[in-house]
Amino acid sequence: MEKLIELKNLVKHYPILGGILRHQVNAVQALDGINLDILKGECLGLVGESGCGKTTTGKAIVKLHEATSGEINFHLKKKDGSTEVKDIVPMSNRMLKKSGIRGKLQMVFQDPTTSMNPRMLIKNIIAEPINEVENLKSREMESRVKKLLNTVGLGEQHLLRYPHEFSGGQRQRLAVARAIATNPDFIVLDEPTSALDVSVQAQILNLLKDLQQQLGMTYLFVTHHLLVVKYISTRIAVMYLGKIVETAKTADLFKTPFHPYTFALLSAIPNANIDKKSSRIILEGDVPSPLNPPKGCRFHPRCPFAIEQCRTVEPQLEDVGNGQAAACHRKEDVPKLVKDKFNFYFKN
Ligand code: SF4
Repeated sequence: MEKLIELKNLVKHYPILGGILRHQVNAVQALDGINLDILKGECLGLVGESGCGKTTTGKAIVKLHEATSGEINFHLKKKDGSTEVKDIVPMSNRMLKKSGIRGKLQMVFQDPTTSMNPRMLIKNIIAEPINEVENLKSREMESRVKKLLNTVGLGEQHLLRYPHEFSGGQRQRLAVARAIATNPDFIVLDEPTSALDVSVQAQILNLLKDLQQQLGMTYLFVTHHLLVVKYISTRIAVMYLGKIVETAKTADLFKTPFHPYTFALLSAIPNANIDKKSSRIILEGDVPSPLNPPKGCRFHPRCPFAIEQCRTVEPQLEDVGNGQAAACHRKEDVPKLVKDKFNFYFKN
C-alpha cells in the first residue's frame, strides 16, 4: 500500500514558562521522536493511556498544534496523477491553502458540543470549512451542504437549526459532515464515540466505515478503547509516554503482541464470559510525568520484567513479524514471562 503521511522523528514539546521574565523553565515532552507511516486508504488505530500523546499526534498532523521539530511528509496527489511529497511542518496556513493541502486534512473531535459554535446555524457551520478552500455561490453552497447532511443521515430540515437542538449522536454526524465537506484525503478521529451511548457508538462507527469505503479516505482513529479499535482499524499503533512502542496489523496485534505494554493493554479488555477467571496484568505505579520522562526504556518504572539495562538503554523501533516494536531488552522471553507471571496468553 502507498504511504499517505510519514512522521519522521516528530517532536512536540509544550514550554512551561516561569519567573518574572516568563522565560522557559521546563517543557512537557508530549511527543518525543515519533516515526510512523500512515498508508493510503487504511484506518490506523492509535491507542494508549490518557496523556500518552495520542491527541497531540493527531493535532500536529492537521496543524492545529505546531510541531517543535521533525517532519510530517504528506503525499499529495496532483491533478495530472503524479504525487508530490511535502513536509508540512514548516508550512504556514497560507502556504497550506495555496498548495491545496489545507482542505485535505480534517479532524473530528471527541465532544461535538464544544467543537461547534453554539450561535451558528448548521448550514453555516458546515459551510465554514468549504469557504476556506473554495468560492461557491450561495445556491451552490446550500445544495452542497444539503448533500453533506444527507450523506451523514440527516436532512435539509436541519439546515436552520442550532447545535443544541440535536442529540449527541446527531451532533457527531454533523461533525462528520463538516469534516468531509472539503473532500479530505485524511481525517483524524479523536475519540469520536467516547461521549456517546453504546447503541449510538455503533451507528457512528458504521457511518465512518461506510464513508471511508465510499470516499476512499484515510483515518487516524485515536482511542483508548481497544474493542472499538479492533472493530474499525486495519492497523494499530500503541503509544506510551510520547513514543510509539508497537505497530502491527489489527489481527496480528491481538494474536501475537511483542511489547510488554501491549500485553498489559490487551489483558485489560473486559471478558464477557463471567465464568472465565480474569488474568489481567496490573501495572504498578502511575504513568511518569512527561515533564521529566524516565531515562532508558520509558516503561521501566512500571514494567514487571524490567532489568538493569532497561534503566539506561532506550530501545529503538525495529521490524518484527508484520509490524514494528520497540526492541525490548527481554523480547525473546516476554510471552513466556507474561504466561508464567500472570497466566495470561492468547489463544485466538
Ligand atoms: Fe520492560 Fe525493559 Fe522491555 Fe522496557 S525494555 S518493556 S522495561 S523489559
